[in-house]
Amino acid sequence: MREHKGPVDLELFGPGEDVLVQANRMLELARAVNEATEGVMTKALVATRESQGTRAGDFYECTQGELVCVGGMCPDGTRDPYSDCGCARAFYGLASHQATSTALVTMVPLSRDDYVEAFRSSMAAQGLTGDVACEALEMLDLVADWCPGTIVERRGWEFTVRRLPPLPLIGEIR
Ligand SMILES: [Zn+2]
Repeated sequence: MREHKGPVDLELFGPGEDVLVQANRMLELARAVNEATEGVMTKALVATRESQGTRAGDFYECTQGELVCVGGMCPDGTRDPYSDCGCARAFYGLASHQATSTALVTMVPLSRDDYVEAFRSSMAAQGLTGDVACEALEMLDLVADWCPGTIVERRGWEFTVRRLPPLPLIGEIR
């Protein structure tokens, strides 16, 4: 399978409307969701099997729907994001500590504080230290401008949209 590089599969946008107009509409929707759910729900990345296999180097060992974070890369992954180890394409499950190359933007029934606590307890369970609260909030910032339903992938420290939510779904969110 040919690897597709680039931020967005533009052909997934509906025909007949300017791509930028649609992208801006989705950004507006993403912000409306952020506002509407503040304090009750948090938009975060979770593990998903959806779209697995779209890329030749896909892998999935997580538990479906668990919160995911990202980690650093080994020398191989730093040199080549398509390295066999997969670390430059990986998201890690906070519960399973396993890896996936596909993550879904979704609303989880947690406040931001709850989210930071979940992140902190996962890091503690793995014996990982660092500025955990800061890293947790960075994970939330990462998805702030994306609509729920968006599937995300990474190449090193570049995070991109693999698949946008279907347009009818976007209509329902509004
Ligand atoms: Zn690696």
